[in-house]
Amino acid sequence: MRLLVVEDHDALARSIKRALEELRYAVTVVNDGEAALDALLTESYALAILDIGLPTRDGIEVCRAARAHGVGATILMLTARDGVDDRVRGLDAGADDYLVKPFSIEELLARVRALLRRAERPVAPDVVSVGEVRLDRAARTATVHGAPLELGATELRLLEYLLTNAGVVLTRQQILDRVWEYEYEGSGNIVEVYVSQLRRKIKKAGAADLIKTVWGVGYQVVTAHQRVEG
Ligand code: CA
Repeated sequence: MRLLVVEDHDALARSIKRALEELRYAVTVVNDGEAALDALLTESYALAILDIGLPTRDGIEVCRAARAHGVGATILMLTARDGVDDRVRGLDAGADDYLVKPFSIEELLARVRALLRRAERPVAPDVVSVGEVRLDRAARTATVHGAPLELGATELRLLEYLLTNAGVVLTRQQILDRVWEYEYEGSGNIVEVYVSQLRRKIKKAGAADLIKTVWGVGYQVVTAHQRVEG
């Protein structure tokens, strides 16, 4: 994993580099703002440790410019002053976290590890499309060829669970646990009832059926490479 360290204090930069390299990260050090921006725009880093007080361009400017160019690296700001102002400006400029100088190397490493863990957590995309069905998870809407599918909250949750697991065979029990969330005490076929309702609505909207019945097991949303047979 590649990390960028932007720090104009040579001894500090060296000790940060050494500590990170012990954790087997590949570390590049630059010591001014222009070089930092250049590095961020030309290389892909998982994380950048960015000092605020730098020659040529300060860390805030570098961060803002990098974000404006779509740089997605996690950015940890180092601020020499314990001023709320710098921290707020840093976060406003698109930094993910800040650390106030002086700090211990252990503290820095703990912060880096936490930030990288957070960044590695997969973020489900807001929009999921399978076949002709498109689900906007943020807006809580589903459409077929741009026309809305009129789904209730449970149907929408069911569709969301199926689409986000496209290609995976889901058992009725898994679906029940995830979509209904509570212990369902009613008749055993509520999943079937909802799936057939969902199929009916998708079909009525003019889309091909994408929910395949896996007999005796559950259901599977088929992707473009697969065919619906059941
Ligand atoms: Ca500095």
